[in-house]
Amino acid sequence: MKKISLHWQILIALLGGAIWGWLFPTIGEYVGWMGFIFLKMLKLIVVPLVFFSIVAGMASMGKGLNLGRIALKTMGFYLGTMLLAILTGLILVILIKPGLGGGMKLPEGFEGLQAQQKTLGDILLGIFPDNIFKALSEPNMLGIILFSILLGAFIPSLEESYAQKISTFFEAFSSLMLKLTLFIIRFTPLGIFGIIAQLTSQQTHNPESLTRLGSGLGIYAMIVAGAILFHGLITLSIILYFGGVDPIQHFRNMTTVMLTAFSTSSSNATLPLSMEEVIQKAGVSKKIASFTLPLGATVNMNGTALYECVAVIFIAQVYGIPLNLTQTIMVVITALLAAIGSAGIPMAGLVMMSIILSAVGLPIEGIALILAVDRPLDMMRTALNVYGDTCAAVVIAKSEGEKIYG
Ligand code: ASP
Repeated sequence: MKKISLHWQILIALLGGAIWGWLFPTIGEYVGWMGFIFLKMLKLIVVPLVFFSIVAGMASMGKGLNLGRIALKTMGFYLGTMLLAILTGLILVILIKPGLGGGMKLPEGFEGLQAQQKTLGDILLGIFPDNIFKALSEPNMLGIILFSILLGAFIPSLEESYAQKISTFFEAFSSLMLKLTLFIIRFTPLGIFGIIAQLTSQQTHNPESLTRLGSGLGIYAMIVAGAILFHGLITLSIILYFGGVDPIQHFRNMTTVMLTAFSTSSSNATLPLSMEEVIQKAGVSKKIASFTLPLGATVNMNGTALYECVAVIFIAQVYGIPLNLTQTIMVVITALLAAIGSAGIPMAGLVMMSIILSAVGLPIEGIALILAVDRPLDMMRTALNVYGDTCAAVVIAKSEGEKIYG
């Protein structure tokens, strides 16, 4: 097994898991525990990894300009690419109109997806935690990120001897977390085998979700998939190219990361691997990787952003509710905010949809319409979410004069 590189191992595990789950739907479930434990281990390390690497990254950026410049570039990159992603989805869904004339009904027995009680205001307020231990245990990633950024930013302004010691402490812990990460990552193929086998076996119990693909829902799913591919292969490649990074080389080197994101449907679970690969393969400094990637895993979701927009407009079309220009702009803005506010966990984007629906006055039950095809779309959008983060890391590192893939 050692000789085969990790991305091949993962690909084999993915296909093997799918075949296993398909052939043995009843015993497929018995390998699910491997995926379950693997995800638990990833969840276990993600909070300390984010905390220590952001604090260490901020501390090593030093005072003043350097820090502000990198933070501004990162946020600019994230917001800009998310907007481009949304516009791609918006254009496709408006041109193709998958929801018109479909006459889709709400699935029977729909109990009402646990409607997201939060409003956008709650999400914004949630960025400011009042208890760091509560934020760490929930975990409230946006709150943890804010706290880590503040904590790290003030380290360089301490008295020299203190600053030195505290930086070394955080630096050492963040290296330790990366080591632990590396250990857990070795089990990725086994974990992915378990996750995919279980997923496939559940799908074979429920063939209805597959047949639905023939309807307008199938076209909707294809639009989301097409927009994800367009954004990942064309838009981000152009940005990489102008940022001085070879897009093909970068894409190839990130296959393991994308396959893991795809299989786990979780940006957070993929973060340990993406940190490792961006530092090892692309040569991004720990300083920049430690800031851009943990922030990106929570905030930067290109795939989720475009999916939110396409899904809401699809739902409006199915209900026959035309959206005027103001409402469309509202959809774009709320899709952006919802993507930023989505946690990097499976189905987070679906749950956030209720916020946009209520913001533009559409029925929240509309979420049920798209439920059947959400899992494969979640897998694809997560792969794009994480790929977008790695693009930011390499472009920003390059712009700071670092040697990428050299
Ligand atoms: N699963 C996605 C992620 O972790 C979030 C989403 O549901 O869109 O990036």
